[in-house]
Amino acid sequence: MPTVRLSELLGQPSAAAFLRGVVARGRPAGAYLFQGPAGVGKGTAALAFARALLCERTPGAPAIDAGPSLFEASAAATARPGDDDACGECGGCRRAAEFQHPDLKFLFPVSGEERELDQTIADTVRGLREDPWFVFAYEKAASIRLSVTRELIRELAYPPFEAGWRVVVVRDADRMREDQYSALLKSLEEPGPATVWVLTTARPTRLPATIRSRCQKVRFAPLPEPLLCEVLATRVGVPAGEARVLGALAGGNLARAIGLRDSEPLRTRDEALALLQPALRGDPAGLWKSAQNFMKFGRVGRESLRRMLEIHQLWLRDLLRVKAGAAREALAHRDREAELHRQAERLDPREIRRRLMVLEEALRSIDGNVTADLTVFSAMSRVAGIRLGEGKWPSHPAGGWDY
Ligand SMILES: [Zn+2]
Repeated sequence: MPTVRLSELLGQPSAAAFLRGVVARGRPAGAYLFQGPAGVGKGTAALAFARALLCERTPGAPAIDAGPSLFEASAAATARPGDDDACGECGGCRRAAEFQHPDLKFLFPVSGEERELDQTIADTVRGLREDPWFVFAYEKAASIRLSVTRELIRELAYPPFEAGWRVVVVRDADRMREDQYSALLKSLEEPGPATVWVLTTARPTRLPATIRSRCQKVRFAPLPEPLLCEVLATRVGVPAGEARVLGALAGGNLARAIGLRDSEPLRTRDEALALLQPALRGDPAGLWKSAQNFMKFGRVGRESLRRMLEIHQLWLRDLLRVKAGAAREALAHRDREAELHRQAERLDPREIRRRLMVLEEALRSIDGNVTADLTVFSAMSRVAGIRLGEGKWPSHPAGGWDY
């Protein structure tokens, strides 16, 4: 069963130390809010924390077995320095790992029809149980369902079944409705018997201030790029060359890197860079030709165009690094080092920065309502230093570029 313990959390030493301290003292607060960027392990940490609290061998757990022979064993367990984490072996740990512990409640956003809700939730939990690198992917409208919170709030009136407390993990707690927050707040203000809330969010300001103020905050940081690359290569099983590009693209977000792992990152990278070349050369006709190619990205969607621009950014950052004399290991595209050096020779750092700003602007426009493929085309023209309407542009079937 691939479950992660608090002692195994990646790249979050201060959050992990704090949570282990809470477990060791055996007197958790009524509510915690795990906040920090997306994809850095807040959800994994929340479940690891819940399992540690529900472990039968950590402090605060009720004595379940009081037989004399077992007493000795449990006294020995209490004396161990491992008191601050789940043991992974007791009944509590096993049931929590299977999401079958009656005192572990796990709420997360879902999308789709209400009548398929039970199935959707069961499928997600199965995915989470079976795939250690399971990534939650939400549609825009995904939410924590009212029916689920209603049922939970009803249950909270009763004492926990077997552990010293009931742990309620709410993933992406910012995806609730106003009336759910009222119910949640009521429960935080008048806690029933022994409930520990663990809320996670990447968007804390979307939670009502009244809820935030009642939670103890646990902060999570972006994961450092070298750690991301190492995890991708050594644990997730991504080939080293791809891991480097994915790690650089992911911006500290492991979930995003894992989500992209099947997208053939090197091939995508090469295609994206092929499109960049005419822009780097300042060649309008070549750019026009590649524009026709990348229109197909437009049909694939905003996400592909966004990734393409991000790859271009990485390339330009590598050029700056080469200019600054960085070592080969520091380059995301080190497999194309010779090419980077050739281009860096011809380009002024100020010019590279100007191009980076153009791309940054284009990325922002893609998030807005403008047509994504035209944005990319216009950005590439500006990277090339060509004003649209100038130079030798092939004629456009629709009568010219007018934007
Ligand atoms: Zn245990």
